[in-house]
Amino acid sequence: MPLTDKSRKRSIRTAVTLASALLPVLLGSVILYLQAERTLQQSARLTAEEALKQFDLMLDNTSQAARELLPLAGKSCTDVELALREQVTRRPFVRSTNLLWDNAIYCSSLFGNYHEKLTHTDFVDNRLLLIKGNPITPDTALLIYRLNVGEGGAMSTLDGYHLSNVLRMIGHHTLLILQVGPNWLSADGQFHEGAAQDFPVANSRLESSHYPFGVKAGFPAGETWRYMSSEYPPLFSLLIFFGAASGVIGHFLQKRTSSPTHEMKRALEAMEFVPYFQAVVHGDSKKLSGVEVLMRWNHPKEGLVRPDLFIPFAEHTGLIVPMTRSLMQQTAALLGPLSSSFQAPFHIGINITANHCQNFDLVQDCRAFLEAFAPGSIYLVLELTERELIEPTALTHQLFEQLHDLGVKIAIDDFGTGHSSLGYLRQFNVDFLKIDQSFVAMIGIDTLSSHILESIIELAAKLELALVAEGVETQAQSDYLSEHNVNFLQGYLYGRPIPGTEFINALSDH
Ligand code: C2E
Ligand code: CA
Ligand code: CA
Repeated sequence: MPLTDKSRKRSIRTAVTLASALLPVLLGSVILYLQAERTLQQSARLTAEEALKQFDLMLDNTSQAARELLPLAGKSCTDVELALREQVTRRPFVRSTNLLWDNAIYCSSLFGNYHEKLTHTDFVDNRLLLIKGNPITPDTALLIYRLNVGEGGAMSTLDGYHLSNVLRMIGHHTLLILQVGPNWLSADGQFHEGAAQDFPVANSRLESSHYPFGVKAGFPAGETWRYMSSEYPPLFSLLIFFGAASGVIGHFLQKRTSSPTHEMKRALEAMEFVPYFQAVVHGDSKKLSGVEVLMRWNHPKEGLVRPDLFIPFAEHTGLIVPMTRSLMQQTAALLGPLSSSFQAPFHIGINITANHCQNFDLVQDCRAFLEAFAPGSIYLVLELTERELIEPTALTHQLFEQLHDLGVKIAIDDFGTGHSSLGYLRQFNVDFLKIDQSFVAMIGIDTLSSHILESIIELAAKLELALVAEGVETQAQSDYLSEHNVNFLQGYLYGRPIPGTEFINALSDH
């Protein structure tokens, strides 16, 4: 009887093991990725700040030259030519200086007296202009700083070579560009027109607060992974170690949690759950009236295992249902052939749990059980413990009606320990109450328990329910219960639970 699809279970277990191994690695990688992004963002910003500071300093130097020359605008070039050249030699970043009049250069540090109409007039903020080059060095970008007062003006130019040097040296691993109005300069010294595109990783843009230019920093695509693979190998090793450890733990935890179920399924298939039989006698004549079937686990290594050690777990996993079915089949196979020799209907008590009342399988199991016996030779008694009452629902109502129609009897086990109401007893068509052995054990010892026992006996008489007393061990208990008209007695005084073959031998001797 295959209970579950084993390979499916195994693949689920493998998947859970894999998930517990991969989850820390994945989560850790995500955290490291975010951390790397943050680090790159900070680095790009710091680089941009540094470049901005450097350009500000260079422009301070360049603009100072224009400021000093501005008062000379309008004067004759021959008189001021020397002053223009002096600025070029004194200031490290200044490549040339010019004086303007009416938007035309009329004096230059390079050519002295010289006339050229200004072709570029689109200075950003009227001050700064980045151009591709001039007629002398057409391929070297120039940054021009201009100051104007009235018709006069002064200009100083900064060599693109210095600018691209800064971009290269400060940028190092970071990509950097200098943006002046609509034009920009890259670290290779190339002049570009139009706004520069954002960098794919950690794009950062800063504007100077002194001059109309900005700096953009960032990294090429894939830099985050490159950074992680160069900076985080020790952390990755740690992640892989944690992943492996968590996978191993996950694997063993699953094995631990699944193994008792697995072991019980194996035992079920190997028919290790066997019925033991305990005699129940008539209260008056003490003649055999029936048996209670009690489960034992015939474990190959542990020996005979008591039911209280495995029944709660079987109930928890739902395995109790196929286990009980197996017990009923074994009981029917053992006792069925003797049924023609039973005189009055022989009581066979089977313990059931709430798990059995979730569908109608129990009806089918009981029908199959009854079919193994001569008609009318037995009463099948289902024992339901009062400790764990079954909830009355439409389904259970129907279930018990069908069981009743089959002639199955119902007993409330461990009666007195729970709280079944009168209505409950009626609703489930209860036939027997089994007085819990704790009350029987107190006969002659504890007066309060004796009072409870007497009330139970009275209640049963009023409700016209048959009474069974469990755990009868002494003659005094037996006498007391017989005097109080308890219908059936069960206990070590009349016999302990014994294996099927032994019970059959005793039955035939009888
Ligand atoms: P229970 O249904 O109340 O069964 C009576 C228990 O009392 C049995 O214990 C029996 O051996 C024990 N007993 C009988 N006479 C005496 C006596 O004179 N003195 C003492 N001290 N004990 C006596 P067992 O067989 O160990 O079963 C324990 C419990 O395990 C059962 O209590 C029942 O709740 C559960 N159980 C046993 N077999 C099954 C089963 O097939 N299905 C289910 N669902 N539960 C079972
Ligand atoms: Ca019982
Ligand atoms: Ca009991």
